[in-house]
Amino acid sequence: MGEEGTRIRVHCRDCPFEKVVASDDDEKPAEVLIDHGQRTGHTLAIDRMDD
Ligand SMILES: [Zn+2]
Repeated sequence: MGEEGTRIRVHCRDCPFEKVVASDDDEKPAEVLIDHGQRTGHTLAIDRMDD
C-alpha cells in the first residue's frame, strides 16, 4: 500500500490545457504529453502531486 493515489498533473505552458492523471491509470501522463504536444506543438510540464 502507499503507492496508489499518486497523481501527476500535466499542464501546458502555452495554453490553459491541464490534466491530472493517476500514475496507475490507463492513461499515462506521457501519452497526454505526447498527444497534446503533437497536436499543438506546445510545451508541456509535469508536476507530481504527492498528497
Ligand atoms: Zn497547449
